[in-house]
Amino acid sequence: TNKIQKALDNEQKFFSFEYFPPKTDQGVVNLYERIERMTRLNPLFAAVTWGAGGATAERTLEICSLCQGIYGLESLMHLTCTNMDQAMIDSALKSAKDSGIQNILALRGDAPHGDEFWTPTDNKFVHAVDLVRYIRQQYGDYFCIGVAGYPEGHTENPDKDQDFKYLQEKVDAGADFIITQLFYDVPKFLEWYRKCRGEGGIDVPIIPGIMPIQNYQSFRRLTFLTKVEVPGSLLESLDPIKSDDKAVKDFGVEYAVKMIREIFDSGIDGVHITTLNLESTARRVLLELGLSDSSISRPQVVLDKGSGLLSS
Ligand code: FAD
Repeated sequence: TNKIQKALDNEQKFFSFEYFPPKTDQGVVNLYERIERMTRLNPLFAAVTWGAGGATAERTLEICSLCQGIYGLESLMHLTCTNMDQAMIDSALKSAKDSGIQNILALRGDAPHGDEFWTPTDNKFVHAVDLVRYIRQQYGDYFCIGVAGYPEGHTENPDKDQDFKYLQEKVDAGADFIITQLFYDVPKFLEWYRKCRGEGGIDVPIIPGIMPIQNYQSFRRLTFLTKVEVPGSLLESLDPIKSDDKAVKDFGVEYAVKMIREIFDSGIDGVHITTLNLESTARRVLLELGLSDSSISRPQVVLDKGSGLLSS
């Protein structure tokens, strides 16, 4: 089998990349070129996000199946369950299987328009755990299933212990690994990680989610939305350079490298890098860490509209 799970058992240092489906055909073509170049850095897998309500369903599937089938790169398809009907979930899972995709990140999802309050489309799917159970029930062990974990707690649940129990519940329901929400405070993440491994009894792989800072405004917006802790020293370093885009990018690379070193030093093998579909920061981070292995050859693929892999 081609599952991420198998590779995770290797205990070698690794990284993975996350992409989102672009809105336009040209954007998709550009992304494919980037993915091809970045695949030569040798990520363990490529994850592709799922737009709220299934808005990106076709493109998410297409990008995953291209990675899997053409680049020979394990792909992880994100799938949300609460803001779309069951027929769409069934169809997404079937298409994934038909395309050879064997890894799903099972998520609840948020309200499509960022509304604070929402009602699930289908009462059968209210939380991510419902999707984990459903996939196991429908497909047995065919899929390797990942779930989201929140080292600093999920924004909607002020009760962190309860939130933690829900993570355990997702693992008990059959999740094979966890990818975490982004964070910038490594000691805080490590404390949570040790809790998972210790009293939490969570023994599946936990992959820390790293989003290198590439732009000051979007960093502030995102940390505000996710309510993740921004260490004072990080803000102090950023403040004097915040209007200098290049300086922010350089700093973002250094900070991500420092975070990942601390994470590796504490015995964790891999990190999941959110690329925002951009190449240079991720590449620089990996080169500085000495993690990209350019000696590994990957098939070079020329894509054109005739390949049937691009949306027409
Ligand atoms: P859940 O695990 O269901 O948790 C949601 C909330 O419900 C939490 O507050 C939790 O404490 C509570 N809860 C959980 N289980 C129960 C239960 N049994 N009973 C009562 N309460 C419960 N969104 C997208 O739209 N597309 C993506 O591609 C995407 N990718 C993501 C990738 C990662 C790594 C992460 C961390 C998030 C991603 N998200 C994505 C965002 C995600 O959809 C939201 O964070 C969403 O609000 C929660 O999803 P979840 O799967 O963690 O939900």
